[in-house]
Amino acid sequence: MRIILKADDFRADRFTEKVYLYSRYLSIIKDNNICCSLGIIGSACEHIKESTRLYIKELLANKNVTLFNHSYYHFLAEHSSEFSGTPFEYQRDSVYKVQFLIKKLFDYEIKTFGSVANSIDKNTIRVINQCSVFKYVYIYKYQCIEDIKKQVIWLNGYGILEHKEDKNCVNFERFEDLFNEVNEEIITFQMHPGGWNEIDLIEFEKIVKYLKDNKHTFITPEQL
Ligand SMILES: [Zn+2]
Repeated sequence: MRIILKADDFRADRFTEKVYLYSRYLSIIKDNNICCSLGIIGSACEHIKESTRLYIKELLANKNVTLFNHSYYHFLAEHSSEFSGTPFEYQRDSVYKVQFLIKKLFDYEIKTFGSVANSIDKNTIRVINQCSVFKYVYIYKYQCIEDIKKQVIWLNGYGILEHKEDKNCVNFERFEDLFNEVNEEIITFQMHPGGWNEIDLIEFEKIVKYLKDNKHTFITPEQL
């Protein structure tokens, strides 16, 4: 099977904090020579350390990581979000602010979009279609997609690698049980390593080892 690891909510400004386990998550990706699709939040990149910028550049150059546009503010409220229930111009500006910033910081062009809480509306679809650089869009399975003119990547592995309701949201044995029921050519797992604890990280390493031992291939959307 081909596997996409969709890692959300990467805040580059927190990268060097000890309690922020994203840096160790990315070390696991790098040390195992695999890849993940990293959802970067634009506003959290405005003032980052030079060491962080260089580290991310290295991950991008080694193809351990590709970035997806995961909003500028990561705004989410009860009845609206950065990409639903807001005006077209607001959504367009949010998308382009991230694109320009990432290009400036990392000399990198983001080709994939994944919304805040996977929530989109008609305005988002217009923005995505108009942004010629975008080639891929992550979509949660219940959303209507008729009008999207980009390649859709379904979040068909939702809830398999990470269960948000548990104290430890990653568990190898549960993963193995659920994964053995999967019959897909490509599966996309969503995760939020910035909210993980030490146990989640250990369980994730076991999952990576298991997938590698069973000869599954890790890819990013850009390799489709
Ligand atoms: Zn998010």
